[in-house]
Amino acid sequence: MKADIKALPFNEIEEFITGLGEPRFRARQVIDWLFVKGVTSFAAMSNLPLGLRAKLDACAFIAFPEIVARQESNDGLTRKYLFRLRDGETIETVFMRRLWGRTVCVSTQVGCRMGCRFCASGLGGLARNLTAGEIYDQVLFTQKDVKERISHVVLMGMGEPFDNLASTLCFLQNITHPSGLGIGARRITVSTCGIVPGIRALARLGREFGLAVSLHAPYNALRDQLVPVNRRYPLEELIPACRDYTAATGRRVTFEYTLVAGLNDGLEAAAELVRLLKGLLCHVNLIPFNRVSERAYSAPAPEKVKLFRDFLKKHGIAVTVRREVGGEITAACGQLRRAKSREAVGKE
Ligand code: SF4
Repeated sequence: MKADIKALPFNEIEEFITGLGEPRFRARQVIDWLFVKGVTSFAAMSNLPLGLRAKLDACAFIAFPEIVARQESNDGLTRKYLFRLRDGETIETVFMRRLWGRTVCVSTQVGCRMGCRFCASGLGGLARNLTAGEIYDQVLFTQKDVKERISHVVLMGMGEPFDNLASTLCFLQNITHPSGLGIGARRITVSTCGIVPGIRALARLGREFGLAVSLHAPYNALRDQLVPVNRRYPLEELIPACRDYTAATGRRVTFEYTLVAGLNDGLEAAAELVRLLKGLLCHVNLIPFNRVSERAYSAPAPEKVKLFRDFLKKHGIAVTVRREVGGEITAACGQLRRAKSREAVGKE
């Protein structure tokens, strides 16, 4: 069976190439072609001897994505991609042009099995995990398409990164490597719905990756409904893991809190949130619910958002309200993919 070369960490690619009887510098050339230049065939690796190109072709393949749809926001600051993978599955990637740099939001799975109640990605369940290469290529092929250097990456698209732990860790290793795109760990944020062993595995790397946790509720009873993984990793396990993460990395944790009208937007919830996060190096990002037609939740009133935010602030919690970004281009995770599948179904 041919090896999926882009799914491997760089040290294994080196072993693979030296295992073919080639000197180590050839591995560095191959890595450069694959992970910096983004070529899609061994034939295109023009500084490799023809014999090596043929040898690689015989024992490995290069998986690469194809752009099948692009949507750009009216202000030109956000662009959403739908990529088709080798097996025909599709994933979403979002490019954001901001004052501080160029960010790509990547997917880590095709679909998701976590079932967070207000998320479009979870509606169709999990189709499969992405390989490390398929995660990496979302950054590389977006960079090639926009012709601007990507400075930041967030793992906040479709899928739960820690439900695909091995590929996520391999991706983080490759994307930060100086022979790859060399994006600094501080500029990469991993977002999780709260898989505690994943948080602990990331902490063990001892690097300064950002960590964002989808909290959405300060009580187990409510969080069990909104983020079902809470039944496996309840708040009394999740919050200590986050405290340990800040101790291991020195980074503050971002808690994402989607405000849903009548569910978790009251001052009682805000007070419980203050109690839960007391003394924790963190920041709360309030996200007024972005309506997804399939779910029966609705957006909170703007004055409720303000009251909630002011309460946290008054009690010493760093808090921001996420402004609507790219609403007109269905920027909530999973929505472009679902819209495209509906289109496809409509055509059949
Ligand atoms: S919010 Fe994230 S983890 Fe939860 S269902 Fe959506 S993609 Fe999965």
